[in-house]
Amino acid sequence: MTHAAGTVIVLGTGLAGLRTAETLRTQDYEGRVILVGEAKHLPYEHPALSEELLAGKRSAEQVMLRKPEFFEQEQIELVPDRRVEQLDAERCLALLDDGRELGWDALVIADALALSEELDRDS
Ligand SMILES: Cc1cc2nc3c(=O)[nH]c(=O)nc-3n(C[C@H](O)[C@H](O)[C@H](O)COP(=O)(O)OP(=O)(O)OC[C@H]3O[C@@H](n4cnc5c(N)ncnc54)[C@H](O)[C@@H]3O)c2cc1C
Repeated sequence: MTHAAGTVIVLGTGLAGLRTAETLRTQDYEGRVILVGEAKHLPYEHPALSEELLAGKRSAEQVMLRKPEFFEQEQIELVPDRRVEQLDAERCLALLDDGRELGWDALVIADALALSEELDRDS
């Protein structure tokens, strides 16, 4: 049986989010993959940031985990600099801080527990 491929939203553009998005492609997932996060920059290596970028040993581009063209080649829609303000699980929608709503068939939360901590605080 085959299924029409749907949209996967990956929330969080850190290492976990990036690896999730690229693994979907290496495992031949053919649907839309949207990688959304509040970071302004492309996913980068944290250890290299502290140890090499700040020491001037590597450039900002060299600490990026993937170059911009990678996302285009793999058809991973990168949505940087956007905070997910709310998740509407009933309607399967992620509500962004610019008012946009992104619909998902599957959602991966790779935000280093930021949302769960917020939910804990609010309860
Ligand atoms: C300076 C530094 C040095 C480090 N050095 C090492 C090391 O040497 N060795 C090691 O093993 N680990 C190291 N780490 C830790 C390592 O970087 C983390 O374990 C790893 O990055 C975790 O990846 P992650 O994708 O789970 O989380 P993160 O990298 O934290 O990614 C989560 C992403 O989700 C985004 N996000 C959260 N909430 C929302 C929201 N509501 N809407 C949109 N986006 C959201 C955040 O902006 C973030 O970009 C270091 C970390 C730092 C900061």
